[in-house]
Amino acid sequence: MIPRHARAMTIVQSLVGLLLVLTPALLIWQHFGMTRVFELSPRQSYGATVTDDRHENGKSVASLVRANDALVMRCDLRAGYAWPFCKLQFHLGQDGKGVDLGRFDSVTFDMRYSGESGRKIRLHLTNFEPEFSTVGDWNSQRYNSVEFDAPAQATFTIPVNVVRTADWWITAHNVPLEKTYTRLDNVTAVEISTGSVPSGQSITIEVRSIQFRGKWISDTTLLTWLVGAWIGCGLLGLSLSLLHVRSSLSASNARVELLDAINKALQLEARDLASQAHTDPLTGALNRQGLREVLMKRLHVAGHVDEEMAVVFMDLDHFKRINDQHGHDAGDEVLRRFAAVIRGEVRSSDKLVRWGGEEFLLLCPETDVAHAMTMLDKLRAAFATQDWPHGLRITSSFGLTSLKPEEDIGAAIKRADGALYRAKANGRNRVEIA
Ligand code: GH3
Ligand code: MG
Ligand code: MG
Repeated sequence: MIPRHARAMTIVQSLVGLLLVLTPALLIWQHFGMTRVFELSPRQSYGATVTDDRHENGKSVASLVRANDALVMRCDLRAGYAWPFCKLQFHLGQDGKGVDLGRFDSVTFDMRYSGESGRKIRLHLTNFEPEFSTVGDWNSQRYNSVEFDAPAQATFTIPVNVVRTADWWITAHNVPLEKTYTRLDNVTAVEISTGSVPSGQSITIEVRSIQFRGKWISDTTLLTWLVGAWIGCGLLGLSLSLLHVRSSLSASNARVELLDAINKALQLEARDLASQAHTDPLTGALNRQGLREVLMKRLHVAGHVDEEMAVVFMDLDHFKRINDQHGHDAGDEVLRRFAAVIRGEVRSSDKLVRWGGEEFLLLCPETDVAHAMTMLDKLRAAFATQDWPHGLRITSSFGLTSLKPEEDIGAAIKRADGALYRAKANGRNRVEIA
């Protein structure tokens, strides 16, 4: 694996591990904790006041006593107004700016109620909505309320969703049906009011705290985030593994290419070795093994040999003297140039073989004796004009014969050797035909 991908893969694995731990932890935390609280109490009283029905031409009288740990409303509930009331108000904002209580789920009260008959309390949450509400007109705010029996115990909880927009408010403002739902996103006041109980009694409501409770993150939001994180992680892992597959594919392709290159190089080397085995390193002419290959190939290609071939045996004249007078290296150089001159003069299909020492064999396919004679004369002329080491004059003697179709090459070489012997005997630097 390529290190870059390995590192990215480790990151994805760590992410998955992190999510595995975070998912249950966050879900449990969300369920049991993550609580946010909005509290109304003597410590957070938001300008608590009391109001009664006297400005509605009623006769009830409310008064507020602020103790250290409680706000106490005393109410003389008297007949007068159609629905006599006293209420304790917490003003959360001014001029139409309130508090968003919409994301709270429940309200927990620490509150004592005492009265002579009936124990009903109303909770009002007034919500300022520019569409219906105007600053200064208290009743133009959405009037969300619920009436319930004050429990005997001081601490109790009600769910927020029992609070409903009051029917009188819906009717008074001609609110269309789809907007009659409870809205608590801009609550300007929380009110605790006396409920529908008989008038002519004294009621005391002692509020120690009212707590709106909710979650910082709702379970739906949390689940959406978590699912999103898992999907993101999965996609990341998937694309990384695709990348990995692609890169390991190209890595293996590169390996194949390398092997191919090595193979090619080895084949070249093998061919080199093979040609070395077939050629004489000093002169570059074929050696006897090379000659054998040439003859075999000739047989192999045609199936049979049906054409005439000139066979020339040649031997440098007085070569021993060169070695003796100028050293072995000069002799080697002469041999090299001798072979080079021949290669320069003959056709590419002609084969020069170093038979041994300073003896060479030249095979000229599809060549008759007359043409071979002409060629050898040219060759001798080339020797005569060639620059030899130490200003030497080099000549060679030749025995020429023709290999007849289907004839054994050995016999022809023997014949040519015989002719060469005669050439030597007859004064050298000449061609004798067998
Ligand atoms: P002739 O004209 O009768 O052929 O006389 P020659 O001296 O050429 O013949 P001879 O066979 O007596 O000598 C051949 C010499 O060639 C003997 C040997 O030392 C020398 N020789 C054979 N192979 C090599 C070689 O590879 N390099 C060198 N420098 N000399 C070689
Ligand atoms: Mg010789
Ligand atoms: Mg010789």
